[in-house]
Amino acid sequence: MQVPFLDLKAQHAALEGELTEAFRAVVRGAAFVGGPEVEAFEREFAAFCHADGAVGVSSGTDALRFAYLAMGIKPGDEVITVPNSFIATTEALTQAGASVRFVDVRPDTLLMDPNQLAAAITPRTVGIVPVHLYGTPADMDPILEIARVHGLWVIEDAAQAQGAVYKGRRAGTMGAMAAFSFYPGKNLGACGEAGAVTSSDAERLAFVRKLREHGQAQKYFHDIEGYNGRLDALQAAFLRIKLRRLEQWNQARRSIAAHYRETLSAASDVRIVAETAGSSSVYHLFVVRVPERDRVREFLQSRGIATGLHYPLPVHQQVAYRHLHLAAGAFPVTEGAAAEILSLPMYPELRADQVDYVSATLIEFFGGRPSRSAPRVTKQLNPA
Ligand SMILES: *Cc1c(COP(=O)(O)O)cnc(C)c1O
Repeated sequence: MQVPFLDLKAQHAALEGELTEAFRAVVRGAAFVGGPEVEAFEREFAAFCHADGAVGVSSGTDALRFAYLAMGIKPGDEVITVPNSFIATTEALTQAGASVRFVDVRPDTLLMDPNQLAAAITPRTVGIVPVHLYGTPADMDPILEIARVHGLWVIEDAAQAQGAVYKGRRAGTMGAMAAFSFYPGKNLGACGEAGAVTSSDAERLAFVRKLREHGQAQKYFHDIEGYNGRLDALQAAFLRIKLRRLEQWNQARRSIAAHYRETLSAASDVRIVAETAGSSSVYHLFVVRVPERDRVREFLQSRGIATGLHYPLPVHQQVAYRHLHLAAGAFPVTEGAAAEILSLPMYPELRADQVDYVSATLIEFFGGRPSRSAPRVTKQLNPA
């Protein structure tokens, strides 16, 4: 059996008629950058997030960049985030002139550890950026409380978490602003690059609108230097079609996650990364921790199962951040996890028999310890 890591072709096959029709309509209308499709998508996405407003931009990275700039980041400011993320979280921070300070993640969820924040705050700290990695919200209540006590802002990196819920609140509504990515493989993915910023602060959203459009609020009158960071109409039209299915797709991801948990429940060598208490993940990724990770990965590959690593090298250990002189051991939870994590196939169209097969194959690798609903594997295997 072949199990791809992600199957965008399956998603698009079901939507081909609608996507093609949207393409035709945009080409005929000839409004390619901004315009009614973008405005409609912004309204619909804000409603989906239960946010007061959304601004479409050209990528998740620009969404982060514009949110940071809208909070007034300037050279010398310090911002706290986690090393267990994709580099985009920090890239835009340092490019805006701020210095990044990392705190480690919790061992169970691999998301920001609120208990480490107090020690990382200095007189120059201005903000905190929790990352809702894997589609799971970070533990926001203690993070927001520490931010409040110290007068700091919070921006959510919600790139992987469209629709995730934390104690009744949706990702994108808890911080002062939030950044979303619609990179094709995300839960809501464009057919190209796209992103959005959400906020309940109309002035900050207006500033983001200005930033994405060369610093102009009125054509050819530039209040500041901005960027070319707009969302194009074709992507907005495609995103509108997919947004209508997002709740149902997220629900399918949750069911698949539950099925993985059940079929892996007796596999003691396979530890599933936990959801934050009180949250409902949208499972952008389903991540487990296993010993001998690289051999497990090769074994699965040899059985037709594709997996991913999110991420193989923590941000603070990247060559790009060598100048920060963060020695190995600086963030032990993140570093320990990087050697063990494995992202299993996860997408809404994944079938139950495929999940059974992935779980059974994992159990087979670890010597046939059976689980309740996976087929019992009796043969003792030596995968080497
Ligand atoms: C995808 C992603 C981004 C960047 O989004 P792009 O649209 O690729 O620019 C930022 N942060 C996280 C956690 C991501 O997964």
